[in-house]
Amino acid sequence: MYKISLITGDGIGPELSDSAVSVLETINDKLDLKFEIIKLQAGDTALKEKGTALPNETIVSIKKSDACLKAPVGESAADVIVVLRRMLDLYANIRPAKSYPHMPALRDDIDMVIVRENTEDLYTGKEFSLGDSAVALRIISEKASKRIAKYAFETATQRDSMKKVTCVHKSNVMRITDGLFAKTCSEVAQNYPDISFEQMYVDACAMNLIRQPEQFDVIVTTNLFGDILSDESSQVVGGLGMAPAANIGDDFALFEPVHGAAFDIAGQNIANPSSFLLSIKMMLDWLGTKNQDSKCFQVGEKLESVIFNLVKTGIKTKDIGGDNTTTEFTREITNQLSL
Ligand code: ATP
Repeated sequence: MYKISLITGDGIGPELSDSAVSVLETINDKLDLKFEIIKLQAGDTALKEKGTALPNETIVSIKKSDACLKAPVGESAADVIVVLRRMLDLYANIRPAKSYPHMPALRDDIDMVIVRENTEDLYTGKEFSLGDSAVALRIISEKASKRIAKYAFETATQRDSMKKVTCVHKSNVMRITDGLFAKTCSEVAQNYPDISFEQMYVDACAMNLIRQPEQFDVIVTTNLFGDILSDESSQVVGGLGMAPAANIGDDFALFEPVHGAAFDIAGQNIANPSSFLLSIKMMLDWLGTKNQDSKCFQVGEKLESVIFNLVKTGIKTKDIGGDNTTTEFTREITNQLSL
């Protein structure tokens, strides 16, 4: 039995969470893998009702669970996810961009992953006013750069693909901070002679993700660049509705969609739950590896192929060219999982 914390979130978060609960309950009932789901509050609603975006009971409960699923939260996102990433030392943010068939996408032949450093850069919140100026501290350490570089090379080693790591930075301008990141990645690369290594400035990378995305296998980059490039890469393969993410540390992991709370479509039953359900697939893979539990891999594979096949047969939500509602799409998934 795996204990899963579920932050239900804001905007489309509760709709995505309902979908996730239906899928996890179906797995419980039909696929012989057991989850206890603990629903938790964090985000704008928690801030309004409890005076804090990240209540202490939520933190305590997350720490007692095997993994956390987090639906998107709204305006208070920085007070929730950025804090959790640092508090739980979830240093690797993994954002795959994988083409699915029959998508209104720029490309249908892409399979890459962005490995984003998750604890430093401009996200440490060290900002202040100085005279008439506003200052933000950009912190890049050798320790954090080294472990994220290692994670990227290990990922490239395990993937059945090009065996290539592209280190993305802007060291021609930020010579000290990105200079350290680039130098550290190059040093780590020496330990992986079978993985090809290249460096690219972030502006060139943004262009190449549109012009020639097939050249990428694993991109390793700093926190802010990773956030921006992963929104772009998700658009190359089908949009934010299909984009999952994992925040991984040495002992714990949290899974969430790449996108935010999408208030513009909240409450309309049109959100695509795939981003969150594919995050569950990433969670299953992580639990499988951590606990040497082959059942987790099997169920994860089945969940992904059910989503693939539905989309292929034209059962899909509006954002990817279909007309199914969130609940209809979820029901189809649970029906297929039960077969
Ligand atoms: P944030 O800054 O918190 O990441 P954002 O301003 O980038 O948020 P998102 O909430 O990420 O905005 O979403 C951008 C747009 O993408 C939304 O306005 C919405 O129309 C669309 N979108 C995002 N997620 C989904 C989804 N799961 N299903 C359908 N459309 C989505």
